Amino acid sequence: MKQKRDYYEVLGVAREASDQEIKSAYRRLAMQHHPDRNPDNQEEASERFKEITEAYSVVADPQKRAAYDRFGHAAVGGAGGGGPDFNSTIFSDFEDIFGDLFGFGDVFGRSGRGRSRSTGGIDLRYDLEISLEEAAAGLETKIKIPRWEACNTCGGTGAKPGSKPVNCLTCGGRGQLRHQQGFFTVTRTCPQCQGLGQVIREMCNHCKGEGRMNTDRVLDLRIPPGVDDGTRLRVSGVATRGSAPGDLYVILKIREHTFFERRGNDLYYTIPISISQAALGAEITVPTLRGEERLRIPESTQSGSVFRLRGLGMPTLEGRGHGDLYVTVFVVTPTRLSRDQRRWLEILAPSVRVDNHPMERRAAEKVKDVIG
Ligand SMILES: [Zn+2]
Ligand SMILES: [Zn+2]
Repeated sequence: MKQKRDYYEVLGVAREASDQEIKSAYRRLAMQHHPDRNPDNQEEASERFKEITEAYSVVADPQKRAAYDRFGHAAVGGAGGGGPDFNSTIFSDFEDIFGDLFGFGDVFGRSGRGRSRSTGGIDLRYDLEISLEEAAAGLETKIKIPRWEACNTCGGTGAKPGSKPVNCLTCGGRGQLRHQQGFFTVTRTCPQCQGLGQVIREMCNHCKGEGRMNTDRVLDLRIPPGVDDGTRLRVSGVATRGSAPGDLYVILKIREHTFFERRGNDLYYTIPISISQAALGAEITVPTLRGEERLRIPESTQSGSVFRLRGLGMPTLEGRGHGDLYVTVFVVTPTRLSRDQRRWLEILAPSVRVDNHPMERRAAEKVKDVIG
């Protein structure tokens, strides 16, 4: 199965592109790739042209664009699943852009909607935000995905039970209108039946003639330990009605932690210590993802010293070991000194004098291993 490309990528525009930018990007690409303009390479041009036109039919429609931004390709699947529907509004929009220069019906085959029915499944995107702790421990959760299901009242036809769709009188059931214009035969999708060739006389009350209902499907999702921001989990074989099963991509976002900073599988944070802890040494309690650990601060510790707690970082996704946790200490200078504290510091001052020369670069960044 060929994977569908992102519609914005297909059109070469940013996700926040304006309607005008999208329109001109489409116009430029469609002119460039129209099969009539690529006689030597018609098949490839035709595929490319369909792709950009499909992308445009979604991105140019505010409602479809919003749905696509949220749910990806599946959200804009057509009546049978399998592709966006090429409705008459979009076709008249194309005619706006090109006039009657090209026959769109020919490019899309017999009918706009019909052609997409035979294509493979559609892929669905789901964005899920989890905490750093959940990313470290792994998680089993349930996610709800929207999906179209055949209306069970009319069995998907959209017609009232007992009635049947009848051939469209406007196009005689062909789904297209053709007329001669100079040397060209211009083909247009029938506006009456929107290319389906059939119209519904009496609509099914349950689905309002759509033939499908939007339902939620709940999926169990297992997130392995060690996932990172942007990790993509694929759940294959998530079917939507009328199309081959597609893949569901769950894109993970790891919520920013209040103090842990993650770089790869390693974690970092800074912890304050007092001037006396730094000078005399101390044992302090530090948080890790697996609970609290004791950390021995040796005497004469400088502000900015880094301690490495081996194996206390994130687990690797491959299940082989863990990263490390780096704790940087920050020596807090006392403020609001009491009269006594001030006196003691004044007494100390002459004996703790330092050379006020610039420090060598990186002198303060030496890492001390504490837990091996
Ligand atoms: Zn129905
Ligand atoms: Zn018709």
